[in-house]
Amino acid sequence: METSRKVFIGGNWKCNGDRKFVFDHCALLKAVEFDSNKCEVVVCPSSVHLDLTLTQLNGSNVRVCSQNVSMNENGAFTGEISSKQLVDLGLNWTLIAHSERRQFFGDDETTIGKKIKLALANNLNIVMCIGEKLDERNENKTMDVCINQLRTLVSNVTDSQLWDRVVIAYEPVWAIGTGKTATPEMAQEVHQGIRNWVSENVSNDVAQRIRIIYGGSVTGANCNTLIKEKDIDGFLVGGASLKPEFKDIILSYQN
Ligand code: PEP
Repeated sequence: METSRKVFIGGNWKCNGDRKFVFDHCALLKAVEFDSNKCEVVVCPSSVHLDLTLTQLNGSNVRVCSQNVSMNENGAFTGEISSKQLVDLGLNWTLIAHSERRQFFGDDETTIGKKIKLALANNLNIVMCIGEKLDERNENKTMDVCINQLRTLVSNVTDSQLWDRVVIAYEPVWAIGTGKTATPEMAQEVHQGIRNWVSENVSNDVAQRIRIIYGGSVTGANCNTLIKEKDIDGFLVGGASLKPEFKDIILSYQN
């Protein structure tokens, strides 16, 4: 991590947990003493627990983030949750384009682009997920895949001021929920490639400021080496964010 960029730690609870989990886990999170000048922490509960999580984390420095957002405004879209509704609830973050949304729910580049544009227009901050599948890595297409997904981002961030509200999560699909983590060197190589691409295609200023976080089987055991890499500015964490070790991942910024 580069110290001028505030570390960003996200915990993606996915479709897990019940009300008791929310009460217990929020109590645990509230007890973590981290420096909010150096580290930003968000958790992403499932939609039915957004309100309860907000209430339970009230008074803490941990923010709440949606796992998904509609590509449409309010209207006749059964089952959807709009950006405006999230903002009205008191949220200011949403994930977009998580690989599970891409893989299981048909979120393609067109859909993702609409979500980015609308979320930013409605004042949400976004964590935009990108990353290659195993066969794509094996075919040396990692950067091609990431760049294609980054193009969707760039073409929907229509004002340079909006870049301050974007975090990029590099999440190699083969490392998500599999226990296989990219080595710090592998992750750093891609993070650097992403930052260079942003520098050439957006601006060097944005490239130096934007947080690029890593996701894929991050744990309390491997976070401390990953965070030492120059272009890794934090983590998006799935499985381990449901466990007490999430505290260690939050505190990895101290390394
Ligand atoms: C994720 O869901 O974004 C993720 C990285 O999951 P895990 O940490 O379980 O691999």
